[in-house]
Formats: sequence, structure tokens, C-alpha cells
Amino acid sequence: MTGRELDGEVSQRLADHEVRYTSGRRVVVTALARSEGPKSPAELHAEVASAVPLSSLYRSLAVLENAGIVVPHFGAKGVTRYELAEWLRGHHHHLICLNCGSVEDIAISQTHEAKLAELVKDIGAAASFAEVNHVLEIEGRCAKCA
Ligand SMILES: [Zn+2]
Ligand SMILES: [Zn+2]
Repeated sequence: MTGRELDGEVSQRLADHEVRYTSGRRVVVTALARSEGPKSPAELHAEVASAVPLSSLYRSLAVLENAGIVVPHFGAKGVTRYELAEWLRGHHHHLICLNCGSVEDIAISQTHEAKLAELVKDIGAAASFAEVNHVLEIEGRCAKCA
């Protein structure tokens, strides 16, 4: 999805919720689209500090979450981070560093994805659970902390 397509989708979804796509909300969406993983409000603020005050950044995230544009990630060390929902960002998984707490997106090969999907389906079926999606979180040490 290009930046313009993303903007169009977000703008439409917000209109459905009768919410305006303000410049502050656009800054948050753009920063999350560029990000290599979920970001906490503090991390986002460090990136867009001059553009959006922290208080309005929290409000923007709440509005965007309510409209299903961003989703929270309850990651390492009790920090809540946010990312664009999969319908905007695409299906992916996470690498979580248990040392520094960083969370990074990882896209896996189609071969791995197919194996994983089959495994998850089997596990769900064995528990009489109709699975519709999955998220794989790999915990360990990132390249910086290894
Ligand atoms: Zn790390
Ligand atoms: Zn997957």
C-alpha cells in the first residue's frame, strides 16, 4: 500500500466514524507507517516532537484505535505500543527483545507462513476453536543486545 493509498483508507475509515483526519492524526499514521515495529507513545513523541504535543498524541492514538486503524501491542516490560492494524499494514509477526524491550516486525516467507498457518489451525481445531488469525511472537535478544 502506498502512502497515498494508506491516507485514502485511513481518511475513509475515519469518515465512517464521523471523525476528521486532522494533521496531528496524519502525523501519527505516517510515523507508524514508516516504523519498523510497534511504537509506544513516548517513542512516537520522540520522533514527531515538534509536530504533536504528547497529550494530543495520546488522544490521536485513542481516536485511531477506536476506529480500528491502530491496534495496541502489549509488549515486553509492560509497555503498550501501537501499530497500524493488519488490514493496513499487512500480516506480520513480532520479534521481542527481552533485554531492551524493543519490538520489531518480521515478515516470514510464504513457505513458513503456510506451515505456521496449518500448525495454528490444527492446534485450534484440537481445542474446538475456529481460528481466524494468529500472531507469532519470537522472544529473545535483538542484534544490539546479543
Ligand atoms: Zn534489545
Ligand atoms: Zn502468520
